[in-house]
Amino acid sequence: MSEPLQQLKERLADIENMRAATAILEWDQQTQMPPGAAESRARQLGTLSKLAHEMFVSDETGALLEKSAQALNGADYDSFDASLIRVTRKDYERERKLPPSFVSEMTQLTALAHEVWAKARAEDNFAAFAPTLKKIVDMKRREAELRGYTDHIYDALIDTYEPGMKTADVAQMFNGLSKELVPFVAAIRERVDQVSDKPVHQDFDEDIQRRFAEMVVSQFGYDFQRGRQDRAVHPFCTSFSCTDVRITTRYERDWLNPALFGTLHEAGHGMYEQGSALELDLHGLRGGTSLGVHESQSRLWENVVGRSRGFWTHFYPKLQAEFPAQLENISLDDFYRAVNKVEPSLIRVEADEVTYNLHIMVRFEIETDLLAGSLTVDQLPEVWNAKYHQYLGITPPNNRLGVLQDIHWSGGLMGYFPTYSIGNLLSVQLYEKAVSAHPTIPEEITQGKFETLRGWMTENVYRHGRKYDPTELIQRATGEKLTPRPYLNYLKRKYGEIYGV
Ligand code: ZN
Repeated sequence: MSEPLQQLKERLADIENMRAATAILEWDQQTQMPPGAAESRARQLGTLSKLAHEMFVSDETGALLEKSAQALNGADYDSFDASLIRVTRKDYERERKLPPSFVSEMTQLTALAHEVWAKARAEDNFAAFAPTLKKIVDMKRREAELRGYTDHIYDALIDTYEPGMKTADVAQMFNGLSKELVPFVAAIRERVDQVSDKPVHQDFDEDIQRRFAEMVVSQFGYDFQRGRQDRAVHPFCTSFSCTDVRITTRYERDWLNPALFGTLHEAGHGMYEQGSALELDLHGLRGGTSLGVHESQSRLWENVVGRSRGFWTHFYPKLQAEFPAQLENISLDDFYRAVNKVEPSLIRVEADEVTYNLHIMVRFEIETDLLAGSLTVDQLPEVWNAKYHQYLGITPPNNRLGVLQDIHWSGGLMGYFPTYSIGNLLSVQLYEKAVSAHPTIPEEITQGKFETLRGWMTENVYRHGRKYDPTELIQRATGEKLTPRPYLNYLKRKYGEIYGV
């Protein structure tokens, strides 16, 4: 091995270790830390992330990258070393584009913005948030100019979450979806009372909820020898290595869905992280290639598997045995329908599989117009409400249930929302590819067996970590580009049957 490459690897391993330590502190902050430690924790996180960032963007890293690239010239594209140089170079160029003064200005603005947004939302006062949001939009425009783009200013922002994805690709995706989804949702809205979700709204002991969900994800293949689950107010998955991948959940005693489907969701993220090839562990190549591909795995295990009839054919008798008083008189069919209730609603995070992408489409259209300058912050409430009326057939009665609901904009996260829809579409596209390779998968799910499905995902997605960018990975795994067709067919088949539309 060439000497610069060895030095580069040692340097990247040091950086990866500092990032992992940062992530452990963040996990602790959200699961264990006493509230009084907030300030000291902010200082510790600040120091560690500064050191890791400075070391990564330094000229030394750049010089080692160039020398290593020359030494490796002609190496096999798929090899570990060639992938390491290719991916690290892109990360390096991306991180060097924003000057430190810009980053710290943004950090300060968003730290303050969070408080302003939380207060404005609590008081349902959009005007109180508008001046801060204007500053954020201005900074995001500056950021896009610093990052650079060729077609649409919003490309520069999407690229930070979904490398290689363009505004035009996302617009095309939503066009394909909305043409069929909007009338489909309207038809279901006429028949919402066909399905009752009473079965999942009863008194469910939290400890039994935990035990049941952990049993399910163990059977999926989430490895508790290399993971654990804790409580958090806002559930998430984090990892410090492929051998230490942690998930979190929250419980509601009178509602089964948040903990049950939340655990399935986070375990999907977790299996992706645990499934990276071990050789990728040390130098920043492990984990998911993008937020969208990551979300495809959480949605796959939560919805495509966990909300399917086959899954409940196996697991419902076990759930009934855990909660006999609540469930013994409820049929499998009624329970299956209850966990798949569709209802056009105002709040994105509570949305079902069918309506979810329409919530995202509203945000995508608004963000692109804001960035392009064809929409002003002051027009937002009116435009938001009009789009909800147009796509979901409902109008928010106030801004708290409308334009003020999401935390993202106050944190400077613009270009992020489309990754949720990319994940939904891709979950079905990948699942169907796995089933066409192994037609026994649906039958195995009804027997509580998941090795074949997880094996296909590991082989085609998980083990590659960050080696390939999302468009490359999707093409390699499915033989085509991201497409809404499989997802639309899946929704129409499943919910057409449930609602008789
Ligand atoms: Zn997720």
